[in-house]
Amino acid sequence: MKNYQVAVVGSGPSGASAAFHLAKAGIKTVILEKEVLPRYKVCGGGFVYRGRKDMPFDVSEVVDIEFNRVDVYMGKDLHFITEREKPIVSLVMRDTFDELIVSKAKELGVEIIENCKVKSLNKVDGMVEIETSQGMVQTQFVIAADGVYSQVAKMAGWKEDTRTLIPALEYEVEVNQKDFDRLSKEIRFDIDAIPAGYGWCFPKKNHLSIGVGVILNDNKKIKEYCAEYIKFLGIEEILSIEKHGYQIPVTPRLDGFVKNNVFLIGDAAGFADPLTAEGISNAILSGKLVAEAIAEANGDEEKAAKTYSDIIENTIMPELLTSMKLAKLFYASKIVRKFLLKKYGQRFSEAMTDIFMGEKNYPKDVNDKIKEKLKGLIF
Ligand SMILES: Cc1cc2nc3c(=O)[nH]c(=O)nc-3n(C[C@H](O)[C@H](O)[C@H](O)COP(=O)(O)OP(=O)(O)OC[C@H]3O[C@@H](n4cnc5c(N)ncnc54)[C@H](O)[C@@H]3O)c2cc1C
Repeated sequence: MKNYQVAVVGSGPSGASAAFHLAKAGIKTVILEKEVLPRYKVCGGGFVYRGRKDMPFDVSEVVDIEFNRVDVYMGKDLHFITEREKPIVSLVMRDTFDELIVSKAKELGVEIIENCKVKSLNKVDGMVEIETSQGMVQTQFVIAADGVYSQVAKMAGWKEDTRTLIPALEYEVEVNQKDFDRLSKEIRFDIDAIPAGYGWCFPKKNHLSIGVGVILNDNKKIKEYCAEYIKFLGIEEILSIEKHGYQIPVTPRLDGFVKNNVFLIGDAAGFADPLTAEGISNAILSGKLVAEAIAEANGDEEKAAKTYSDIIENTIMPELLTSMKLAKLFYASKIVRKFLLKKYGQRFSEAMTDIFMGEKNYPKDVNDKIKEKLKGLIF
């Protein structure tokens, strides 16, 4: 049986980032990944600056295009533009992006076992024994970085009914040169391209990543909306199209983030932003935070669990809780949404851009702020 201090399950941005920081702290770490790298991941690949600026190494080699300007539309009437000096969103393909982080972790001594699916966990004499498709692994700590459908979280006893998952589609679309020239000039978000959600068109090196996500409630017609959105973008000719669908967790789990030496990070924990469904930056951040907690605890399991739980409660959770409130308010009614955007659209876009840039956090007293605004409108 192979023996490590930490086994990270999943090599997405959360897992690869955790492994990188663990190895940097001198901790013997393995990544167990069910696919063979590089692997496709259903994702728009919009990496916001708040994540990019904190990367411990340069990621430019895997950035297809970066945008210092973002265009937000609602139908044909409303259009808001924000601009910053640094790239607000860097567009990546997740196969090369994730592989880069893994390669940096490997340089620091992390071992990765690919084509290795985790099948079960057992605690034996204080250690966790992991049954995988490639044999047994023994470790002190397990980090579940296996994404939104986390099997490891299920195996370790987390309930499945404490979080909200939303469906999202991602189409990789090759269009003719004329359409590509027109649509690759901007990164655009279209509020209400799907009811209670939005559509996006993210240009990559040679194609467009086009998708829709419904933030509140399920929408059985999501495929129809995506087809309509492609038409709305005025695409004349589709040369090739690859259609993918997946889920995004837009509320965090309510039954904790550590159980029996198993730590949840990234989508497995439910750390995507409820208002925007942007998940890469918190995946990377939670990977760093769990590595720091484990390193600081120096083998003390209770201390590692407490440090990680406390830091999540004080950093990521307040942001997610405010974002959840804003998402409920924003996506609940199209009439209210249109009214709010007509009146405050530019301010809202600027505020969201500040958050994307990592220059501001979500306001902590959002309820009071909303009440104040509503009073101002009513009286
Ligand atoms: C359609 C769509 C569009 C999105 N667009 C964006 C965007 O533009 N910007 C953004 O910031 N976020 C976006 N997201 C969210 C983002 O993709 C996720 O938040 C992010 O990938 C989470 O990273 P992670 O490392 O936690 O998990 P993942 O990236 O899902 O990685 C999990 C890894 O675990 C592996 N794994 C799973 N099960 C096992 C197992 N049993 N054993 C071993 N390995 C296993 C998987 O193969 C995978 O490599 C989007 C999501 C969707 C669905």
